[in-house]
Amino acid sequence: MNSIYLDNAATSWPKPDCVYDAVDSFNRKMGGSPGRGSNSRSIEAGTIVLQTREALARLFNVSDSSRIVFTSGVTESINVGFKGVLNPGDGVIISGMEHNAVARPLHELQKNGVEVSIAPCAPDGTLDPKALELLIRKNTRMICMLHASNLTGTIMPIAEAGRVARDNGVLFMVDSAQTAGVLEIDVEKQNIDLLAFTGHKSLFGLQGTGGLYIRPGLEVRTLKEGGTGSLSEHTFQPDFLPDRFESGTLNTPGLAGLGAGIGFILQNGVKKIHDHERELTDTLINGLKEIKGLTLYGPADIRLRTAVVSFNVKGMECGEVSFILDQKHGIICRSGLHCAPMAHRTSGTLELGAVRLSPGYFNTREEIEKVIEVIHGIASGADK
Ligand code: PMP
Repeated sequence: MNSIYLDNAATSWPKPDCVYDAVDSFNRKMGGSPGRGSNSRSIEAGTIVLQTREALARLFNVSDSSRIVFTSGVTESINVGFKGVLNPGDGVIISGMEHNAVARPLHELQKNGVEVSIAPCAPDGTLDPKALELLIRKNTRMICMLHASNLTGTIMPIAEAGRVARDNGVLFMVDSAQTAGVLEIDVEKQNIDLLAFTGHKSLFGLQGTGGLYIRPGLEVRTLKEGGTGSLSEHTFQPDFLPDRFESGTLNTPGLAGLGAGIGFILQNGVKKIHDHERELTDTLINGLKEIKGLTLYGPADIRLRTAVVSFNVKGMECGEVSFILDQKHGIICRSGLHCAPMAHRTSGTLELGAVRLSPGYFNTREEIEKVIEVIHGIASGADK
């Protein structure tokens, strides 16, 4: 049975061939620890890291690539963005659709006196940016939100949110886990001070890669210190970027793959990738809409969403649906609660959870048509 992979919101698969080649080539032919000494392998590894940093700078319109620091992914980046900046008494505004990558660090920080305000979203996940403005207080230090929901695919108004942040003199941090590589991200145009990104979703890199863009002039405390390969004569941490935030040997094989993934995106263009995913999502939603007993979540307007489609089938648990899809039909998706209790509360699925289908650039229309047919069979009771 040929499987159909529809869990790209969790991690993209397959990757473009150039990604596998770049990782393999680094591991088999190069090796070397970047920034450690001056042997030729170390220099080659350092060049790979620099090229990946510069490719990201192009993708996000960052003028100085050293302001992008590598981490293990969005989760670590958001922790640095919050814990490195916020002080007791500071206020943070977030949306009602956040992932636990945002909600849980803030829950911890609340114990130290950080105040959290939540801008409510409609059940389809949409946010009126005016709700952010209404929550601004004297102590507000930051607005932080995801660019698109991993539950409903809802695209958040980050350009407007960035404007609210700038007009009120507060920082703006964006969780781009679901959008980097498929939606335009421009740190200048969108007034983004801190951009958290992950490598293994739409950037086509490997798991455990990602990073944080830090706007020039913004002081951020470190969460870890250690060897950077620079200023090795001192026991204090270098104060310049990216070294300040890159203690310990980097994941160079992963960054080689990430660089190749971004190269693929820059070559094809974000628009082409987005257009293909939108066409698949459109086909999927239009097909699922016709199925009796099926509840779809997220905005009805396709322009307001990414390639994430969550649903439930009346009378069935979401886990049962995904089990049948996987075991009987080879259709890979995720069900349950999607690390985002806030989003489930907003969409009314905290009790039920949901089945989530997330097509990617390498899925085809034929695959989507097959999936619709199978779900039709499951919902009609013919396939239990
Ligand atoms: N935010 C959102 C919206 C996500 O979908 C995810 C991944 N599920 C994360 C944050 C966390 O990303 P990572 O696990 O790569 O750190």
